[in-house]
Amino acid sequence: MTAKKIWLATPTMHGDELRYMTEAYETNWMSTVGENINEAERLACQQTGSKYAVGLGSGTAALHMAVKLSGVKAWDKVFCTDMTFAATVNPVVYEKAVPIFIDTEPDTWNMDPVALEKAFQLYPEVKVVVIVHLYGTPAKMDELKAVCDKYGAVIIEDAAESLGATYKGKQTGSLGTYNCISFNGNKIITGSSGGMLLTDDKAAADKARKWSTQSRENAPWYQHEEVGYNYRMSNVIAGVVRGQFPYLSDHIARKKAIFDRYQAAFADLPVTMNPYDAENSVPNFWLSCLLIDEKAMCKQERGALSATFVKEPGKTCPTEILESLAAENIEGRPIWKPMHMQPIYRDNAFVARQDGMDVGADIFDRGLCLPSDIKMTPEEQDRVIRIVRSCFA
Ligand SMILES: *Cc1c(COP(=O)(O)O)cnc(C)c1O
Repeated sequence: MTAKKIWLATPTMHGDELRYMTEAYETNWMSTVGENINEAERLACQQTGSKYAVGLGSGTAALHMAVKLSGVKAWDKVFCTDMTFAATVNPVVYEKAVPIFIDTEPDTWNMDPVALEKAFQLYPEVKVVVIVHLYGTPAKMDELKAVCDKYGAVIIEDAAESLGATYKGKQTGSLGTYNCISFNGNKIITGSSGGMLLTDDKAAADKARKWSTQSRENAPWYQHEEVGYNYRMSNVIAGVVRGQFPYLSDHIARKKAIFDRYQAAFADLPVTMNPYDAENSVPNFWLSCLLIDEKAMCKQERGALSATFVKEPGKTCPTEILESLAAENIEGRPIWKPMHMQPIYRDNAFVARQDGMDVGADIFDRGLCLPSDIKMTPEEQDRVIRIVRSCFA
């Protein structure tokens, strides 16, 4: 018999979610308007400190609205975090603009401010920068913002993975001009799906609301002056989101306990956990990740669709660890494969701090995501730890 599956990250419900969903059903607000949406938006503002929130069908939809609000036009270049989920970048392409990828720094695994400065020297005309807080770890926002301000560029913050994480006391999701969060099933809190656009700009919030409901003009008939989208959040989904918000801090505490436990258990191995700036930021610890020291890496080769490795005593690689976990019914995951390494973006520019440098490719090569499900028991986490340790034998 195979042991019970240990997941990377799954939804954790508490009961209130069902109550609010049921309320939507019983009051017949089975729609994209209703009390749950209003409340979920209010809670998102309260949590992040943003003035306005617009509930949408997904974080990707929120990013699309943010890209449109930032005024990006066809063929404009947009600077984007390179090591991230493709959803950060695809909305730039929906608007026929051209993502340019900025390399990663090793201290938080986010956009490198030095590489960003270099990118502006190469492309001073760029007006929009999309910044991610990867795995719930805040990016070096002050440094990045200083560079953006210098060149008059607007920040779109992709806080899809970092809800509840803070940078210098401020919530992620409130640090850019147009900010996005996600309630996808594996995020720190979830609606099963859903997302929100957050901003302090009332006119921007109103525009996003209009665009996301097919851009109806205020007229007695269906009057349209611009293209619209069906992107609004469902009142049923919003019920789940509404029920989850009160548990955000509980989820973060449990994620942190998992991270700390891994860190202690691997202290004597040639590895580090995904790093953060403990002085200036508090991550939400959405995913615990491991980076294998260079000297402890065995030979690993990754093709377009598969990977191989050559085992060496005392050495391992992400492929071996992930295969060993999978063999025991445990779900791990490689680090997000950097966008500049993706076939779809092979012709897009990539700017590193120094020519030839590629921090993202190195982290992708040596790193992996460990199971970070908050329902994982200490005994289950011990299983994960044992298997990872055995790979270093
Ligand atoms: C999940 C995620 C998104 C997209 O959110 P969806 O709600 O799944 O559309 C965007 N960016 C990052 C970094 C994410 O992890």
